[in-house]
Amino acid sequence: MTDILIIGGTDSSGGAGLTRDTAAASALGVGVAPVVTAVTAQTHSEVAKIVPIPPDVVAAQIHAALHAGSVKAVKIGMLGSNEIAETVAAALKRTAVPVVLDPVLKSSSGARLLSGGLPEALICLADLITPNLLELAALTGHGVAQDERDIAFQSGELRAAGARAILVKGGHGGGEWSTDYLFACTGSEHFTAPRLAVNKRGTGCTLATAISCFLALGHDLSTACGRAKTFIHTWLETA
Ligand code: PLP
Repeated sequence: MTDILIIGGTDSSGGAGLTRDTAAASALGVGVAPVVTAVTAQTHSEVAKIVPIPPDVVAAQIHAALHAGSVKAVKIGMLGSNEIAETVAAALKRTAVPVVLDPVLKSSSGARLLSGGLPEALICLADLITPNLLELAALTGHGVAQDERDIAFQSGELRAAGARAILVKGGHGGGEWSTDYLFACTGSEHFTAPRLAVNKRGTGCTLATAISCFLALGHDLSTACGRAKTFIHTWLETA
């Protein structure tokens, strides 16, 4: 069995986090080794409580999952705190499989899901970072990108800070089309699908998990991003 290691938080509403990740991976026929960083009590409209898991317990889960030997890719979602993020970076330091980092900063309901910011070690370790427009702005300290030029500029800054490849998700943008922009060492390209009039939580989790699955199944980065875009579009269409 091909497995991916998923590092993230639980969401008691089931709308996002590890439950959503696991559903996406099983739809793609990929197994999951789940590593819990935080337990959250939330509904679709508010986060009531966040309980971080002690960093040594997070590290122990990662080491145990990697020891089992079937992990072919890693997806990182909600980390909760800078301390846990540093622990994750240290635990994955010698991992040879691709790592996808979804830089989860806030819930759609506005609650902060990461305190203290993302450590440089994690930004540099990830093979792909998948910010939405709001996360890209927060990570680079700019206003929200208004057009392709802003997106390319902000992504360039993130790459200069050590990110290897960035997929900027256009879901928070406007217009008839939802376009994601990939910036990698091999060049840049974009993936487009018609924008759907659905308001669904867990889209960021689903996309990053699907990319990890396609990487685990042996596809290159560009193919994995393209297939994941199609997968999420189909999921939203049937939502
Ligand atoms: N809760 C958890 C545990 C998450 O991992 C995430 C996103 O990754 C969220 C909430 C936020 O999801 P949404 O933006 O759909 O509210």
